[in-house]
Amino acid sequence: MSKTSFRQRIQESINNETLQIALDNNTERRLKGRAVAFQSIPNLDERRQRAHAVRADVIEHLDEYLAQFISKSEDNGVIVHRAKDAAEAIQITLNVARQTSARLIAKSKSMVSEEIELNHALEKEGIQVIETDLGEYIVQLRHERPSHIITPAAHLRKEQVGELFQEKLGIPYTTDIPTLTATARKVLREVFIKADIGLSGVNFGVAETGGICLVTNEGNGRMVTTLPPVHIALMGMERIVPNLDDLALMLSLLPRSATGQKLTVYTQLLHKPFKNQQRHIILLDNGRTRLKNSPLKESLYCIRCGACLNACPVFRELSGHAYIGSDLSIAPYPGPIGSVISPGLLGENYVQLAQASSLCGACKEVCPVDIDLPKLLTRVRADMSPSLSGRRAAGEGGAGLSPATKFGLQIFARVATHPMLYAASQKFAALGTFLFAPFSQWLRLPAFTSWGYSKDFPRFAGKSFRERFSNKSAEGESADWSNSKSVKSGSAILHSNTRPLSDVQFINELTALGGLVHSDQNPTLAVIQLLKSRGVDKIHLEPNTLDEIILRAAGIEFTRQPDPQILVGVTNAICGLADTGSVLIVDGAGDPLKASLLPEIHIAILKSADIFPSLPDAMHLVKNISAAVFITGPSRTADIEMTLTIGVHGPKEIHVFLT
Ligand code: SF4
Repeated sequence: MSKTSFRQRIQESINNETLQIALDNNTERRLKGRAVAFQSIPNLDERRQRAHAVRADVIEHLDEYLAQFISKSEDNGVIVHRAKDAAEAIQITLNVARQTSARLIAKSKSMVSEEIELNHALEKEGIQVIETDLGEYIVQLRHERPSHIITPAAHLRKEQVGELFQEKLGIPYTTDIPTLTATARKVLREVFIKADIGLSGVNFGVAETGGICLVTNEGNGRMVTTLPPVHIALMGMERIVPNLDDLALMLSLLPRSATGQKLTVYTQLLHKPFKNQQRHIILLDNGRTRLKNSPLKESLYCIRCGACLNACPVFRELSGHAYIGSDLSIAPYPGPIGSVISPGLLGENYVQLAQASSLCGACKEVCPVDIDLPKLLTRVRADMSPSLSGRRAAGEGGAGLSPATKFGLQIFARVATHPMLYAASQKFAALGTFLFAPFSQWLRLPAFTSWGYSKDFPRFAGKSFRERFSNKSAEGESADWSNSKSVKSGSAILHSNTRPLSDVQFINELTALGGLVHSDQNPTLAVIQLLKSRGVDKIHLEPNTLDEIILRAAGIEFTRQPDPQILVGVTNAICGLADTGSVLIVDGAGDPLKASLLPEIHIAILKSADIFPSLPDAMHLVKNISAAVFITGPSRTADIEMTLTIGVHGPKEIHVFLT
């Protein structure tokens, strides 16, 4: 079965009312959130072009950057493996699992693991793998693949999740999203603590430092990289950036494009393994070298933000599960980018996906690294994916088409791959529709098409899809992610006219995300007051953070050891970021990274003088640090019906005491 089945699947998606409602919820809100988030950075176009140039340079000189990355990682004490294909990557993972006698793996979201079908292979060997991202956990319980690269359960409604949790986790049926989220938190907390291996993906590897960067909102990424004695990071070998400045550039684009956030809640930078921990990085090729040497090379610039999926008018009707290969398997990567890289990496089976595009250009318009997706899609359609390169080289592209069709496709490819020509063609077509609409009764063409029997010319839309899409993006309605419930500070905040501008901006940003900012000359007394108000008498405390004599005198016990029973963790913040309301926590004595992760409440002590304007100004602080995290608000998710829910795996509250 090939195209017929693909078409049937498309029809089923369109007819599925529940799916259509779920999709509308997800994609609309994501697009609006993205538009609002980009209003806060200047020179977006210039930034996109810079990001494009960085990605182009990396792919052009991939071997050199990889050699630098591997050498630095190994200097950092990380064990680096290279896997030429899925089988090798699976075998390396199995070897590590065997050497460490692992039976349970806690996994955070990794599209590469979907690409190589890792879970299935590990489970066949008797190793239990549990997904810990809420959306991934839901689809795993349903024995499904993720339907979106950012929101894996975007195709489901809360009623379906309620039924699932009732059946699989034994809780009473509920559609209350905070209750469903709290249930997952409780179940998965045990998994994090017991897991023998934590397995994660990688958002970026930094050649200059050998470090890896992971971004997650829920805190599960931090749990799986921090708690288990072994951490395996699975990384597509193209996910390199040259240095920390380039990383800061990518991080200004990725979360804004993916979830409409200025910065993801947890932006981790991991250089060295933690004490008593082994870290492995598996660098996967699996067709990437072939893709690099093909006309689809530009697809390797992708930073997996998922924006092109949300923008695509076809994906918005279908969802990821309709993107199937000719063998009926669901493609690991759906949507516009998936329709290029699924055939590019995995072969001819997925070439038909490129038909699921109107080539309207919306995907290119939203892409933060300015990938020319319409051009790449037309190349896949013209049989130019690397898996078909033999045919292309032999001049067989488009075999089976009549000369007239080939000529028509050539003209179309030319127009579709030149945005200005394409925009002009849309205006021309719109004008034609407008002029001919009054004569539609006489213009039916029964002799040529069945369409002509039953349909009039469509109503004149006035504006092309591109124009409507651009206007919509510019309207800038706020989304849940970027403009969540603001929570008032429990302590005094100094009046804004008495504070430096950076402090005011920091306070506003963090408060808008649901964080609490307190201002006090003596943070120890203020923290004691907060602890007493919550009935807390034991905390996990980083050394040199509060006055320990005063704490003892007030009857507050403290420990340096992580303990999941402790409700409050107190750490220093090395710096704050004014434009995102983030604080930087770094690894060190007293385990501040765990103190800011395991407890329900995280308290950070920040000197007002240490607030920097934005992320690029603070990158030098993490260069020689073994591990660090920028925290931007409390742990959160929107994996069920895009409803913002606070406190998934990480702390539910973050309090910053400004001194
Ligand atoms: S192609 Fe561009 S928009 Fe699509 S996921 Fe990749 S980076 Fe994002």
